[in-house]
Formats: sequence, C-alpha cells, structure tokens
Amino acid sequence: MGSGCSGSGCMGSGRCRPVHELSLMDRVRELALAQAGAHGASRITAITLRIGSLAGVDPEALQFAHEVVMAKTIAAGSLLHLEVVLARCFCAPCRAPFTAMDGVCVCPRCGTISAELLQGRELELASLELV
Ligand SMILES: [Zn+2]
Repeated sequence: MGSGCSGSGCMGSGRCRPVHELSLMDRVRELALAQAGAHGASRITAITLRIGSLAGVDPEALQFAHEVVMAKTIAAGSLLHLEVVLARCFCAPCRAPFTAMDGVCVCPRCGTISAELLQGRELELASLELV
C-alpha cells in the first residue's frame, strides 16, 4: 500500500490517485441511474455536475472516474459536463459579498479574511440528458 491509497477504488494498478473522485462518481452514478429509472429512460447520454471551485476535486480525475464508474451501465459512453461555481464569501466589515480569487476568501476591499463562505463547495448532479 502506497501512501494515500485507501484500498477501495484502487484497482490494483498502483494508480490510486482518483480515489476521492471515484467514490464521488459512484454516488453520482446511483443518483443518475435512479433518475433515469424514474423517467423510464433507456440511456443516459450526458451528465452535468455542478462543482464549487473550493470543492477540492480534480476535473481530470473526475472525467477518468466517470468513464470507469459508468462503464457497463446505461450511462456508458455518456458525456460529463462540469459546471464550475466560483466561490463567493461575505465580508462582515464591508457588509458585502465578493468572489474569492484563487480559492482564498480575502476581501478585495479591506483585506479581511472571511470565514463566511456563501457558495463554492457545491458538488451536485445538475442535470441529465436521457434517451
Ligand atoms: Zn471587506
């Protein structure tokens, strides 16, 4: 076991990098298949995820995880779209929200480091294209 390898999700190849993204896509798959089933769809052609810029996921690893996780399901070969939500924080001294640059909540007006994150940690299924 190398460092950072949690076992589950590691496919024995020694490439354990996208473990986090794999477990995430696993949940997305469950949700997507449940929704497709509810709509009587026979295939899922595209999946859109809403990802906060502070959610801590790697888009490339997500694409990889998507391929692995969706294989052999009705979502095999589907496209994965990522909708990035920029982090926004609220500055108490200025009483104003601002967009966090580079993932750091420092107010551009007064330099206060804000602890109030309004958005940016989203990780959710935004929409599905069903056939
Ligand atoms: Zn401020």
